[in-house]
Amino acid sequence: MKKRVFSGARPTARQHIGNLLGAIDNYVNLQKDYDCVYCIVDIHALTTLQDTAQIQNYIRELALDWLAAGLDPHKSIIFVQSHVPEVTELHTYLSMVTPLSWLLRVPTFKEKAKAQPDNVNYGLVGYPVLMASDIVLYKAEVVPVGEDQLPHLELTREIARRFNGLFGETFPEPKAKLTSFPNIPSLISSGKMSKSEAGSTIDIAHTAEETTARIMNAITDPARKFRKDPGHPEVCNIYTLHKYFTPAEKVEKIGVECRKAEIGCVDCKKLLSANMNEFLRPLREKRSELAARPEFIKEVLADGADRARVIARETIREVKQKMGLL
Ligand code: SF4
Repeated sequence: MKKRVFSGARPTARQHIGNLLGAIDNYVNLQKDYDCVYCIVDIHALTTLQDTAQIQNYIRELALDWLAAGLDPHKSIIFVQSHVPEVTELHTYLSMVTPLSWLLRVPTFKEKAKAQPDNVNYGLVGYPVLMASDIVLYKAEVVPVGEDQLPHLELTREIARRFNGLFGETFPEPKAKLTSFPNIPSLISSGKMSKSEAGSTIDIAHTAEETTARIMNAITDPARKFRKDPGHPEVCNIYTLHKYFTPAEKVEKIGVECRKAEIGCVDCKKLLSANMNEFLRPLREKRSELAARPEFIKEVLADGADRARVIARETIREVKQKMGLL
């Protein structure tokens, strides 16, 4: 029997090429060897999203991005977290076995509390318990994570271990499948491409024209003020992006030509946008086809929730029995 993988993404924006080359491509590949459960974690989004008017739109956009990139509803369970309310029930049960001190020491809680001091809600503290509930509800054994998310997964393992210790072996302790996320640079700063930095991303859903416009406006080597100035490709965001979308020998040639001022930034950017648009073209075509079939997206998510619920109900029955509630 295949091991089960669980992973989720918050519906707070459309997915960009950083998400695609990191998480989503990985999700697609995992479908070959694992029984995959992929969840649009809308309840998690509420911990930081104060304006929920767009949440249904973001859910739909995220589902479109995933399906266009190759997530296959025949192979994977794809669903929305709140459509399987058993997760909130399990969250309550697990919160009874999770010491508050474990939650208060989580670095992301401290960061978020600092970032939104007027909205340090209870859900923010309990976030890791809800995350643990997401994973163990489906008895997932494997969770794809980046190195920075390891402490969260360790907390899930500790919660599962504690429950098993108190009530008997129930949950597998999920293992991390370490995933290296490519460092896709922002178009407008020296940081990473991020949905929280407006204008920094190329989204899967952008048109070819929008992609080209964003690339043409992107920052480059700040020391290269004029066409005649030799450039420093190693500090240039555009050069880094070429490495993902342009054949290796051509990337090397650009590097040499940039250093000798034999290529200008405009031509360099035009080449990148052509290659990126060509790479994204099939995804975007598929995405447009799917977007024209809103009923199909709803069916995929409804079917995913039905299949997830079969597993979730069984787990809740077992948990309640073990805790003496049945
Ligand atoms: Fe960057 Fe290309 Fe301009 Fe060199 S030529 S600085 S690699 S955009």
